[in-house]
Amino acid sequence: MWSIAVPNQLVRTLIHLGADVEDVEPIGHLALALLFALPAWILWDGRTGAAFVGFVLAMSTIPDIDIVLMRQGFPIKHHGVTHTLAFIVVLAVVAGVVAVAVLKPTLQRWWRLTEEETVQKGTIELFVVGGLILGGVSHLLGDMVAGDGYEPIEPLWPLVQAPIEFPVAHYTSPWLNGVLLAVAVTLHLGVLASGAFPLEHRFRHWRAGLTDGGTGNSSD
Ligand SMILES: [Zn+2]
Repeated sequence: MWSIAVPNQLVRTLIHLGADVEDVEPIGHLALALLFALPAWILWDGRTGAAFVGFVLAMSTIPDIDIVLMRQGFPIKHHGVTHTLAFIVVLAVVAGVVAVAVLKPTLQRWWRLTEEETVQKGTIELFVVGGLILGGVSHLLGDMVAGDGYEPIEPLWPLVQAPIEFPVAHYTSPWLNGVLLAVAVTLHLGVLASGAFPLEHRFRHWRAGLTDGGTGNSSD
C-alpha cells in the first residue's frame, strides 16, 4: 500500500508545488488523463504527439486550480465551478484564442528557422482546445467515479444544477489506479505499434496546406 502512497505524494507535490491537497489522487487522475490522451497518436506523431500527451496530462490538473484559488482568498469552493464542463469549454476556447494570438508569431518564427515550416492557426487551436477539453473532462470523470465522501461535483452546471456521480471507485485504490495506468500505457503502445496512425488530416502537419499523402514525413 505504501509503495503506491509514496509516488502519489511525490506526484502530488510536483503537481501542486507543495499545496496541501488531501482530496486529490494524482495517479488515478493521471492514468485517466493518459487514457484520454490517446488521440495524440491518432492525430499526430513524433514530437507533436508526445507534446500533446504531456499537454493533456498537465491540463487534467486544471479543475483543481480551485484549491489554489481558495488559498489565495478567492470566494469559491472546491468541486465548484472549475469542476464543470462549462468552465472547461470556456477556458479551452479562450486558451485557444490566446494561444493563436500569442504563440503563433513565435512558433512561426521558430519553425521557419528550424524546420523551414510555418504554423497553421487550426493546428494550434486543435492542439490547445482539444488538449484542454480532453484533460479537463478526464479530471471531471475521475471525480465523478471516486466518491469517498467528498462533495460530489455538478459537471453539467448551470444546465443541470444537481450533483452527478457514480461513486464506484476509491481515490486510494492502488489496484484500480495500477490497472488503469497499465491499460492506458498498453493502449498507447498498441496504437503506436499498430502503424495505422496518425490519420492524415488537414491539421496534422504544422506547415500550412501541406498534403504529402502521409508518407511519414518526420518533420513533426
Ligand atoms: Zn478535482
